[in-house]
Amino acid sequence: MLMEKIVVASGNKNKLREIAEIFKGYEVVSMQDAGFSEEIEENGKTFEENALIKARAVCNALHLPALADDSGLCVAALGGAPGVYSARYAGVHGDDGANNALLLKNLEDVPEEDRGAYFESCVALVFPDGQEVTASGRTYGHILFEEEGKNGFGYDPLFYSDELQKGFGVASAEEKNAVSHRAKALAALSEKIKGMGL
Ligand code: IMP
Repeated sequence: MLMEKIVVASGNKNKLREIAEIFKGYEVVSMQDAGFSEEIEENGKTFEENALIKARAVCNALHLPALADDSGLCVAALGGAPGVYSARYAGVHGDDGANNALLLKNLEDVPEEDRGAYFESCVALVFPDGQEVTASGRTYGHILFEEEGKNGFGYDPLFYSDELQKGFGVASAEEKNAVSHRAKALAALSEKIKGMGL
């Protein structure tokens, strides 16, 4: 039987594996492998808008169902920043070291009880017939005073997880995946599409 394809608007192998585990009846492929290599401008104001922008761009170009996620860190004491600007907080896209340094600097005088933060992920699945499904997930904790551990990526070394009672920088990938914002968003999406008979 020919399996229907879902194109993931990301080249990240960890994301692809996580998504493939959920969409077992589908052939899950990266957008690069499906032949899409254009830059997509993520100019939305929310994680949901950005996830939809990416999924729509890939779906429209390839005429295949497309799944995208957008995620970031929201810090209450900073009014929700870095939020949708998480990847380029310090100016250069994906410069984790500079982003973490800026986050610590902006929270310099903020005591532990006011350093509450959460990671959020929104996933969007867009079909060629125009159907769109989105879901999101969050994981809560606080921002540490210095980096701890080398595991994970991005802001992980600065994030203490309430659910794990330890930092994402010292947690194993398995531990993090059990509570992560992305895992929760994908689980919520999976529930939604089950109910739609897709
Ligand atoms: P994207 O959704 O993959 O584009 O991620 C946006 C940015 O949010 C990343 O570059 C990281 O800075 C941050 N981010 C998102 N998810 C995580 C996470 O699980 N750990 C650490 N940083 C994250």
